[in-house]
Amino acid sequence: AKAAGGATVRRFMPEMLARLTDRAALEEALRSSLLRGELVPYYQPIVALPSRTIARFELLARWQHPQRGLLGPDQFLPVSEDLHLIDDLMFSLLRQACRDARDWPDSIGLAINMSPRQVCDPALADHLLQIAFASAFPPERLTVEITEDAMVHSLADARATIETLRGAGVHVALDDFGTGYGSLARLCELTLDTLKIDRTLIQAIDRDAGRKLVNTVIDLGRSLGMPVTAEGVETEQQAQFLIERGCAYAQGFLFGRPAPAREAARIAGLGAGL
Ligand code: C2E
Ligand code: CA
Ligand code: CA
Ligand code: CA
Repeated sequence: AKAAGGATVRRFMPEMLARLTDRAALEEALRSSLLRGELVPYYQPIVALPSRTIARFELLARWQHPQRGLLGPDQFLPVSEDLHLIDDLMFSLLRQACRDARDWPDSIGLAINMSPRQVCDPALADHLLQIAFASAFPPERLTVEITEDAMVHSLADARATIETLRGAGVHVALDDFGTGYGSLARLCELTLDTLKIDRTLIQAIDRDAGRKLVNTVIDLGRSLGMPVTAEGVETEQQAQFLIERGCAYAQGFLFGRPAPAREAARIAGLGAGL
């Protein structure tokens, strides 16, 4: 058995080593890209309905990779979470965003995303508030988007985070609503400020059953006193349906794609509805 074990180790060693150095290389690349400022915030407008004026921008992370070009969050967020770099990433992006927001009218807020693991670390919320404070960014202008997954991990910790944020005046939105197996009971228990309907449901507006579903979520939000944001709105027909149903906010390619700071500042300054 010993000999076999030894053989196994010899056989797998190079591969294991390669994987380790890959990881080390990736970690090194991510760390230095953070330092070099290659991890940048993009901003996508969320508009009020029916006016289509910008209510806030959602910060969406991008990696401006020197060789590979612009990378989306799915290409680096899971790894940065594994490597415990996601907190530094969030702090760095928030600092940049608080600076960028100085070029926007005060009426325009900023929404950021917190991963489920981050929501379950109540110390992070304090750190977030410190950054906003240090940047003289009013917490009332900030929305933190969280998903139901966070509540599944640890309801008590998620609650603590939500309370810290809301206690300071930050808005908390429930993101991707309608995708998971989130429980209605839990939703009714939590005090949140906004419900964001997931894009997959909005896309379903083009079908009869989908319209019923979206209607139901908007009514649910209304009865819980939570304004609803529809994400992934791509067509004028979808927007019209949402306006008729009294949906409060919308986001999607119809109104604007995620864009770099300079472009966000430009559309923020236009004033008119999108
Ligand atoms: P999300 O929070 O649900 O963000 C919305 C995603 O939908 C964004 O993808 C956005 O570009 C895309 N989107 C918006 N409107 C439309 C539309 O009309 N049509 C289509 N097809 N897509 C639309 P993105 O930027 O690739 O982000 C993916 C996810 O990565 C986000 O989903 C969010 O969960 C996560 N993420 C992004 N930035 C951060 C961050 O800084 N921190 C954390 N923790 N997560 C982030
Ligand atoms: Ca989001
Ligand atoms: Ca979402
Ligand atoms: Ca989504």
